[in-house]
Amino acid sequence: MTGIVDFAKRMVIALILAGFIGLLFMGAIKTSAEEKEKAIPEEMTWPTGGTITDTYGTRDASHFGIDIGAAKGTPVVSALAGTVSRSYTSDTYGETVFVLHPNGYETVYAHLDVRFVEEGQAVDQGTMLGTVGNSGHSFGDHLHFEVHKGRWNIEKSESVDPLAFLEEDQLPTYTAFMDKHEVRPANASMHAEEHETVTVAPGDTVYQLSRENEVAVEELIAWNNLDAQATIVTGETLRLYPPS
Ligand SMILES: [Zn+2]
Repeated sequence: MTGIVDFAKRMVIALILAGFIGLLFMGAIKTSAEEKEKAIPEEMTWPTGGTITDTYGTRDASHFGIDIGAAKGTPVVSALAGTVSRSYTSDTYGETVFVLHPNGYETVYAHLDVRFVEEGQAVDQGTMLGTVGNSGHSFGDHLHFEVHKGRWNIEKSESVDPLAFLEEDQLPTYTAFMDKHEVRPANASMHAEEHETVTVAPGDTVYQLSRENEVAVEELIAWNNLDAQATIVTGETLRLYPPS
C-alpha cells in the first residue's frame, strides 16, 4: 500500500512541476511575441513617398490600411524583407503585391500601376515592388498600404494600423524620395539618343536599365511591350525610343 501511496505522491509532485514548467514556457513564448512586435516599428521602411490622404479605420471602420498620395510612377518598395506571397490583379485592389515577412507579418501594396515582382520571389527591405498607380477600385494615384499581424484574410481580422510601425514625421516627400532612389518620374524628358537600344545582360532589371539609360521605367515597359511584371530576358534588345 505504501508503495502505491508513494507513487501517487510522486505523480502529484511531477504534475505540479510539469505545470510550473509549462507556465515558464508560456511566459517565454509570450515575451518573445511581444519583443517581435516591438522590434518591427524600428525596422519598417515607408513603402513610398508622398502625402497621407487617408488613415486606418476610417470609412466606418472599413478602411484597413493607409493611403499615400503620390504621382503615378513613384517607386513602391517593400517595408521589410520577406517573400512575395501574392502578385496579381484584383478587381478591388488592382495591381497588388503581398509580402510575407519572417516574423509572420504580411504587408499589402495596392492600386499599383506596374508590378515588378513575382510570387515566391525573395525581397529585401527597400526592394522595388512596383510603382504607384490608380488601378482597381481607386480614385486618383495613390498607394493603399496594409499591415497584418498574421496572414491577410478577407475579414482583415489581423490588420493593424500601419502608422504604428512608421515614423510619420519621416514620411519622405515625393521629390526627396525620387532623389534618394534615383528614379525619374514617369514621362520625364528623355536624354536617350533616337533609335538607341540596349541589350539585356544577365542580372539586369528594368529598374536598373531605366536608371542607366535615363529613360522612365514606364517608357521602357510601354515602348517594348513588356508584360505587367516587366519581364526581360537576357540577350533581348530593348528600344530606348517610342515605336513610330
Ligand atoms: Zn486605401
